[in-house]
Amino acid sequence: MHDRRRLIEDRITRVLAERIRPQVHRPVAPLQVEAWHVAGGQGEPVPAAQALRAAYGPFAVGDPWGPAWGTTWFHLTGTVPPADDAGPPEVVVDLGWSPHSPGFQAEGLAFRPDGSVVKGLNPMNGWIPVEPGTDVDLYVEAAANPLVLQPHPFLPTDLGEKTTAGDRPLYRLARAEICVRDTEVWELAADLDVLDGLMRELPVEDARRTKLLLGMERSLDRLDLADLPGSAAHARAELAPLLARPAADGAHRISAVGHAHIDSAWLWPVRETVRKIARTVANVTQLLDEHPELVYTMSSAQQYAWLEEHHPQVFARLAQHVADGRFVPTGGMWVESDTNMVGGEAMARQFVLGQGYFREKFGITCREVWLPDSFGYSAALPQIVRQAGCTHFLTQKISWNQQNVFPHHTFRWEGIDGTRVFTHFPPVDTYTAELTGRELAHAASNFRDKGATNLSLVPFGYGDGGGGPTREMLQRATRTADLAGSPQVAIESPSQFFTAAETDYPDAPVWVGELYLEMHRGTYTSQARTKDGNRRCEHLLREAELWATTAAVRGLADYPAEQLSRIWKLVLLQQFHDILPGSSIAWVHREAADNYAAVEAELDELIQDRLRVLTGAGDAEIVVNATPFEVSGVAALGAGPASSNDAPVRLDRIGDDLVLTSDLLRVTIDRAGLVSGMVDLTSGRDVIPDGERGNLLQLHPDFPNKWDAWDLDEFYRNTVRDLDTVADLQVEVRADGAAVVTVRREFGDSNVVQTMTLSPGSRQLDCSVAVDWHERETVLKVALPVDVHATDAAYETQFGHLRRPTHTNTSWDAARFEVCAHRFVHVSEPGFGVAVVNSATYGHEVTRHEATPSGTFSTVRLSLLRAPRFPDPETDQGLHTRRYALVVAPDIVDAVRAGYRLNLPERHLTGSPIEPLLGLTGDTAAVEAVKLAEDASGDVIVRLYEPRGARAAATLHPSFPVREVRQVDLLEDPMEPDGLDLHDGSIGIRLRPFQLMTLRLCR
Ligand SMILES: [Zn+2]
Repeated sequence: MHDRRRLIEDRITRVLAERIRPQVHRPVAPLQVEAWHVAGGQGEPVPAAQALRAAYGPFAVGDPWGPAWGTTWFHLTGTVPPADDAGPPEVVVDLGWSPHSPGFQAEGLAFRPDGSVVKGLNPMNGWIPVEPGTDVDLYVEAAANPLVLQPHPFLPTDLGEKTTAGDRPLYRLARAEICVRDTEVWELAADLDVLDGLMRELPVEDARRTKLLLGMERSLDRLDLADLPGSAAHARAELAPLLARPAADGAHRISAVGHAHIDSAWLWPVRETVRKIARTVANVTQLLDEHPELVYTMSSAQQYAWLEEHHPQVFARLAQHVADGRFVPTGGMWVESDTNMVGGEAMARQFVLGQGYFREKFGITCREVWLPDSFGYSAALPQIVRQAGCTHFLTQKISWNQQNVFPHHTFRWEGIDGTRVFTHFPPVDTYTAELTGRELAHAASNFRDKGATNLSLVPFGYGDGGGGPTREMLQRATRTADLAGSPQVAIESPSQFFTAAETDYPDAPVWVGELYLEMHRGTYTSQARTKDGNRRCEHLLREAELWATTAAVRGLADYPAEQLSRIWKLVLLQQFHDILPGSSIAWVHREAADNYAAVEAELDELIQDRLRVLTGAGDAEIVVNATPFEVSGVAALGAGPASSNDAPVRLDRIGDDLVLTSDLLRVTIDRAGLVSGMVDLTSGRDVIPDGERGNLLQLHPDFPNKWDAWDLDEFYRNTVRDLDTVADLQVEVRADGAAVVTVRREFGDSNVVQTMTLSPGSRQLDCSVAVDWHERETVLKVALPVDVHATDAAYETQFGHLRRPTHTNTSWDAARFEVCAHRFVHVSEPGFGVAVVNSATYGHEVTRHEATPSGTFSTVRLSLLRAPRFPDPETDQGLHTRRYALVVAPDIVDAVRAGYRLNLPERHLTGSPIEPLLGLTGDTAAVEAVKLAEDASGDVIVRLYEPRGARAAATLHPSFPVREVRQVDLLEDPMEPDGLDLHDGSIGIRLRPFQLMTLRLCR
């Protein structure tokens, strides 16, 4: 046979795109259009009740509308002709969008005159159902969301902030008319779409491919292009036998889960997400009503709560389908958060409040963690998710790795404490599948566990900006349920997939440690104010809960449960995977900063109030210590007079050097304002390697190949500029005995004031950097070389730390050239170590260097600021202060303690001491949270963990009557005792390395 393959393939492509698809909808009657532009088209969204009463003016198809971020309401009226045998009547609307990127450009939501919602509209879903022979009376709330991510992406744009986006209309209403959807033409389009998609994935040598080719050619031969409606059935008859041939035995089996990834903010503000949820859920419930085979899953309790508040009718439709098991809450979290930077307690609360919502509203505890898009997954997560009632974990993001291909798609993931969780990465490599032939074939061929198991999951539905599944995707699922040459597709829930997958693959391989994303390494640093606010609020929440609990237990004040819950929810929302990582538009980060400021003020007032009632009257000076470690003689979690007899720091000038000497440290600062020596007087060791200079600020060009706010590309290191020129240098010994060196430097359009403070009795050098930052596409780092020979370094993560190599032996090691740490990095040799602690810096690296005359030293660098220009062209311009300290830390617990202390500075008050609510004796365990129980029982919840990676035995001493002690999980449900040891009235605990333990102290 002659090879006519390309000829026929091209024919299928053209006829499908240019003849068949355009004739699915046949116009049958016009619509009259009127419009009301909210505040001239630039106003913020208004409730439907207000819009429906507004005065509408004339408007015509073809007229422009919609300055960026504005809203226009369209009123559509007309009459639907009597029933047509060809198919159902539908209104078809085109708001003027380009035929791609649903959720990234204009969107609509259709309402009836009574304010009830019909469904959402987007470029891939522009129809509204109507009844034959009736009058149309519909309103469409049209949102002029601009396309921020242009087809040529990552160009700086002013569209990301309403005040800079301009007032030029972005759209023209392109279509609004009544049509008949021709059923046979529509089904023919689906038949050809599926067979063509399958054909192109089969090997050219495969006989099935040729059979499909020739069958589709026969089908097109039977199609009369001048009379598609009249000939579609004949064309379909030729395709029927091809579609009827069943899949081969053992074919890859796909659990397709309906889904819409909806970023809680990203290239749109939070307020737009609230509307996106309504559009998507309205579409999904409409589809669920008409297609009994559909199962849909949605994560993020926050998104349900928005819908419940703003669109209760749509929420009721959702709840009805939750009850019938086809709208499936998943994830168990408040939002799909970042997991690199979120602190331990906040990570726990993502689940406490998320699961709490799903239980309260639907009686459901989610078993599957659903984080398809977050930028890497911390090694602490397995323990956290298991203690939050989850048994399964899903992501696909690691398929974005720039360098190394992850070896598994289905595996057991082991965290820092040894807890394992059954994990799946959908091999389709997307969370917005459309169930195309290409995607299905890729899922099967890409699946790395084939042979051992043949089950994988595919989330399908438009997403990022929402949208969800369409009926065209369901047509594909129906046809590929059992089709020769294709994976078998079954629409199922996540739990149906995971249950089957775990049973089918009980000995799945184990991956130990973090799921590091070899990409998006700049997200530990971008939008520094958002990072500051998050870290600060996490710690203020700890203080507020601690003192509020102490006051409540002592009967001095009510516990502000609702207030704390409201604040937590806002802080948790802002940990969403495009907010805390700094990858959203300017609007989002401006609002985040405002929210953090308000939360900080409110928490500070709450803390002050509870401390006032706890300390009472009196004028004795006391120090309040909210950390889990004793500070200056003040017990952990208490307040009392500070005991300090430390001598003031002595200041000497030796040659060009300044020498600061305390009882514990001797710090030498050279004429360039850099630290040339830091001798630990206890051990006699100099922290700074011979000939090196510490606290050196460094600038690098930072223009990644793409994803500006997200990516720090490895080549940034090739060029460096040291900031070692001094504009001014001052030194003073303060009244409190601390010596402070202040150095001012100028560079580019920016300047920086560095301070270095040595306090009496302190084994650390406190540093701050106050920078007026006006650089572009530049990263600012600070280098702290330390004379420690170490093959790895410990980086704090949630409830413990993770060790990462300082070398680049393998491609996996080399790829981790920028990593996340929470409050500390610790570099050590047996018996000696150095920590670098910080108040809001997450991006870190530790490198190894040849020492003189032999051996190696390590250099810790912190990423202080970046200045990417997409999606926020003004990222991080202006004033910032970053604080960190170089700490002598022989044991890692010294690093843990210093990290807490920098983030929970002592408060100085007058009044009476506060007896801690509880004390701990024995080995080290860190109390991470003290709060009252979520169930309003008044029970005290204490969460603690083992921070060293060692075995620990300790005894807990509550200072209030405790009726009963129970070990509970994060959801505060009873669990099998695991380390709790009660006898003779004492509360003994035995902890495994990094074990997380929650106790309920019943009163
Ligand atoms: Zn996302």
